Amino acid sequence: SAEAVPPERTAEAALRPRHLDEFVGQQVVRDQLSLVLDAASARGRTPEHVLLSGPPGLGKTTLAMIIAAELTAPLRITSGPAIQHAGDLAAILSSLDEGEVLFIDEIHRLARPAEEMLYIAMEDFRVDVVVGKGVGATSIPLDLPPFTVVGATTRAGLLPAPLRDRFGFIGHLDFYSPQELREVVRRSAERLEVALEETASVEIASRSRGTPRIANRLLRRVRDWAQVRGSGRLDLAAAKEALRVYEVDERGLDRLDRAVLSALCGRFSGGPVGLSTLAVAVGEETETVETMIEPYLVREGFLLRTPRGRAAAPAAWTHLGLAPPEGPEG
Ligand code: ATP
Repeated sequence: SAEAVPPERTAEAALRPRHLDEFVGQQVVRDQLSLVLDAASARGRTPEHVLLSGPPGLGKTTLAMIIAAELTAPLRITSGPAIQHAGDLAAILSSLDEGEVLFIDEIHRLARPAEEMLYIAMEDFRVDVVVGKGVGATSIPLDLPPFTVVGATTRAGLLPAPLRDRFGFIGHLDFYSPQELREVVRRSAERLEVALEETASVEIASRSRGTPRIANRLLRRVRDWAQVRGSGRLDLAAAKEALRVYEVDERGLDRLDRAVLSALCGRFSGGPVGLSTLAVAVGEETETVETMIEPYLVREGFLLRTPRGRAAAPAAWTHLGLAPPEGPEG
C-alpha cells in the first residue's frame, strides 16, 4: 500500500542490518533460524512458516527482512490490523509469487475469518475465493505456490492454537543486554557517520530499555544535541544532556514509564489494580501499557503482575523517591 511512511520509520530503515551475521544478539534465535533457512535451501524448498514473538522494537521486522534477503526471495509486508476483511487477505495470497515471504506484523490482531483463511493457506497452500454475493455466491478453490509466512506478535500466547500450530518454527526474542545494545549503537553510529565515544555508547545502551529501536532513537537524539547545543562530539556530556532533555532517566525509563509507576504508587497506593484501570489513569490504550510499557518494568523489578492486578514492587517506590508503605511484607 502507498501509506505515508513516518520520518522515524525512515530513519530506522537506514539502520537496519541486512544479513543474519550483522544482526546483533539473539544468539539462540539466530542459530535456530539459520538452520531452518540453510536446511530449506539445501533441499531446494521453501522454508516452513516462522513466528517471531517478543516486545516491540526488538527486531522482528528486521528479521523478516533478513529472512527474505537470505532466501533471495521477494518480501510482502502487511499487518493484522491492515487486513480488515478476509477478502483483503485473499487478494494478497492469490497474488503471491513462488517462494515469496509474506510478513504479517501483529498477526494476533487478524480478524477471525482472515485468520481461518490464513491457516488453511499455510497448511494446504490453497485459498477459497468467493465470487458473487448472496445466494449466487460461489467459492472457487485456488491453488497457491509455496510461500513462507513470517508472523510477528508481541506474545505468542495471544495466537489461537490452530494458527500457532501452523508455524514450523517459533522464535522468542528477548530484551538485549547493555553490551549488545552498545554493539547496536556502535554500528549505527558507523552508518550515520558520526564519531561516537565509548562512554557515550555505554550511557545510551544502559538507558535503552533493552531495546535496539530505542537505542537507535536515543543515538539520533544525542547526535541532535551534540550538533545543535554541544561541541559536535558525541561524548558522555552530550549523551547525559540529551537524555535529560528527552526525560529518559538513569534506568532508561521515560515519562510514560514513570507515569505508570507514579499512578500505581500514588493514586492506587501500590495496587493491585486492574490493567485497564491503570491504562485509563495514564491516558493510554490497555494494549500499549501491556505490550510496550509493562514488560520492561516487570523485567527490571519495578512492577509485579499478580492474579489480582498490577502492583508496585519496592524498587518502584525507591526509584520515584517515595517511601514504600509499611506492611507485613516490609
Ligand atoms: P515491531 O514489531 O514493533 O515492528 P520490531 O521488533 O519488528 O518492532 P524492528 O523494526 O525490526 O523492531 O527494529 C527496530 C530497529 O532496531 C531497527 O532500526 C533495527 O535497525 C534495529 N534493530 C533491531 N534489532 C537489531 C539487531 N539485532 N541488531 C541491530 N539492529 C537492530
